[in-house]
Amino acid sequence: MANYPFPSKRAPVYADVPAEQWSNWRWQLSNRINTVEEFEKVIRLSESERKALSAPNLFRVDITPYFISLIDPDDPADPIRKQVVPTDREMVPFTAMMEDSLAEDRHSPVPGLVHRYPDRVLMLITTQCASYCRYCTRSRIVGDPSATFSRAEFEMQLDYLKRTPQVRDVLLSGGDPLVLAPKILEEILSRLREIPHIEVLRIGSRVPVFMPMRITDELTDMLQKYHPLWLNIHVNHSNEITTELAEACDRLTRAGIPLGNQSVLLAGVNDNIHVQRQLVQDLVRIRVRPYYLYQCDLVEGAGHFRTPVGKGVEILEALRGHTSGFAVPQYIIDAPGGGGKIPVSPNYLLSMSDHKVILRNFEGYITTYEEPIDYVPADAARFKLEKRPEPGQSGISGLLEGEQMFIKPEGFDEVHDRQGIQHRLKDAKKWVPLGIGEGEKGEEGKKGA
Ligand SMILES: *Cc1c(COP(=O)(O)O)cnc(C)c1O
Repeated sequence: MANYPFPSKRAPVYADVPAEQWSNWRWQLSNRINTVEEFEKVIRLSESERKALSAPNLFRVDITPYFISLIDPDDPADPIRKQVVPTDREMVPFTAMMEDSLAEDRHSPVPGLVHRYPDRVLMLITTQCASYCRYCTRSRIVGDPSATFSRAEFEMQLDYLKRTPQVRDVLLSGGDPLVLAPKILEEILSRLREIPHIEVLRIGSRVPVFMPMRITDELTDMLQKYHPLWLNIHVNHSNEITTELAEACDRLTRAGIPLGNQSVLLAGVNDNIHVQRQLVQDLVRIRVRPYYLYQCDLVEGAGHFRTPVGKGVEILEALRGHTSGFAVPQYIIDAPGGGGKIPVSPNYLLSMSDHKVILRNFEGYITTYEEPIDYVPADAARFKLEKRPEPGQSGISGLLEGEQMFIKPEGFDEVHDRQGIQHRLKDAKKWVPLGIGEGEKGEEGKKGA
């Protein structure tokens, strides 16, 4: 395999740990750092960090020896340190802060299963991680040492999936699925594979980053039995890209697992165009495709990590066109209240007329694109597929397809109902738009439109 130009580090305190222990993931897990005394052996704690570590009800702290070794002990603003070492700023509430900002619990048909989108589900199969990110969006459930994998919940989740045939993609997350005992993980994958309508399995995991020694040949041999299997890792800064991570990703990709990266835009960690460009370019060198860059959620304890949305747009502006297209992630705001993922991007479409669009490129070059005046769209009937999205979830695309004519906010009709007597303009039949609905008239209308 390639000789990667990435560092391999070990904090001085671990200098005498034999290689076979260091490269054993179980050793890494059982030697995680979480007390003031242990921290002091690796980095010099600030007053704020010490205060946080001694606070009651702090979101769980644990850092693998491997990952803490990547921190520059002399740099209090080290980008890795900020991600995993708590400070007292975690205890500062902010406006708009929420416990479950994505309303995942509301979208759960059974415990641990979030069915937010028509054809895919998020399955939370453990609350444990190899290390704990201070900005965790699921800090309300993650890290609880008493809540581990629940067989009873898993059976309920399977049961729901079996009777929900529109689900074709199952995303395993948590917590981190790759900290589960190998046998349990394999059982989960094989049970999901028995469900015929589930086409794709996905794992979201930061284990390759926190503990790359977990990605053994034995693990990848097991994973590749359950293809098509995709995996997203979570890297926020180039300092996390080491020889060990490169080798772990190499093992995964050689097992046929496509790798993506999801990062979170974090103040003081990666809220800079040069840091982001370096990050995405280093990721593609280890064959990981940047997938999403998330705006930080409105979650308790994470207020000090938040950036203005404009910072994300600025970063995308500095990536698109300036580097390889496949290195550019999509910038996403996961809408508070359960609205789901919303992509946000600089605008490239400046204006349009009935046959021409005005566009600008990353350099500010402004151009026109002449549209065809004799365009005949493909005959939609030819492409009618069996599977239709869940009713009510066709969204904006449904408006364009003519399934409905409007989407109304809740209570719209009540607010606008002026009572009054029945008259011509209130006859609902008058308001069936041409081209919408069944019948000859509708088809005629479509042609005329
Ligand atoms: C992110 C997420 C998914 C997967 O979304 P993709 O855009 O397909 O990667 C699915 N379900 C939930 C609840 C999610 O938050």
